[in-house]
Amino acid sequence: MAEIMEQGILIRDVDTKNIMTKSSLPVGGYSVNPYVGCTHGCKYCYASFMKRFTGHTEPWGTFLDVKHWPEIRDPRKYRGQRVVIGSVTDGYLPQEARFGNTRRLLEQLKDSGAEILICTKSDLVVRDIDLLREMGKVTVSWSINTLDEGFRADMDRAVSIERRLSAMKQVYDAGIRTVCFISPVFPGITDFEAIFHRVKDQCDLVWLENLNLRGGFKGEILDYIGEKYPHLTDLYHAIYSKGDRSYFRALEQRAEQLAGENGCPFVDNELPYGRAEPGHPVIVDYFYHEEIRGSENTGKRTGRKQRPPEEDCEVPQKG
Ligand code: SF4
Repeated sequence: MAEIMEQGILIRDVDTKNIMTKSSLPVGGYSVNPYVGCTHGCKYCYASFMKRFTGHTEPWGTFLDVKHWPEIRDPRKYRGQRVVIGSVTDGYLPQEARFGNTRRLLEQLKDSGAEILICTKSDLVVRDIDLLREMGKVTVSWSINTLDEGFRADMDRAVSIERRLSAMKQVYDAGIRTVCFISPVFPGITDFEAIFHRVKDQCDLVWLENLNLRGGFKGEILDYIGEKYPHLTDLYHAIYSKGDRSYFRALEQRAEQLAGENGCPFVDNELPYGRAEPGHPVIVDYFYHEEIRGSENTGKRTGRKQRPPEEDCEVPQKG
């Protein structure tokens, strides 16, 4: 296959010399994307800027490059390193069922001793439970920012929320660490408490991240809010035009309370790797994660210094 058009997606093969890319995140590690492009086509995708570097002119979500790379020769080199799979794509896109790039990558890293973080909006990952169980420190994170399938379908072309929840449970029950990544939190729409109660018995971590409208998609999202949620227009204007933080500050306080009520730790950095007591996931506050916090890991903000913008989209950039 050199280049084919399938169900409106332009798919082509590309060769790459090295699949392991050093991450630009402050915590280091590696960022690995077995594909270029992402057919989930989320409306708020921070990774859509990637297009600039790929030579693609097609709209984001309508192209996919299937990477081919030489086998990783010395996987032990990555021992102890955090390897994030799916920061600017999803390793478990529907096309993975056919091309198997993510499975191939996991097989090559199987004995590496790396700490693997998989970020997905798919349930195809359950196919690889056998392999993931053999790999030691593995975490699988699902992005879920609503329980409303209508809103979900307006925002992305990934599988339903129910399928994501079911996959999370299967992976958790298989003894693998899981994350419910409540991101991006849409003001007035995302009900993080309802999501928390749905997932608290099947995940180790709940990550919270605000919607950030710094990308070229700002206009599209605001138009959508104006059309479908007109009662929220003023709130979005206050947050995204005037920089009003009060909504997310209140949410942050509520998250801390919720953690207290449910016996869950509340922190701003989930590292190092660990499992949570069942039913009491660690709630990680990644709201405005580009800002530097204190080192006490209490979720409390101590400074306003901005981190430089990062390239990864599906993983909180703070680490
Ligand atoms: S936000 Fe993530 S899942 Fe959605 S299109 Fe972008 S890379 Fe894909």
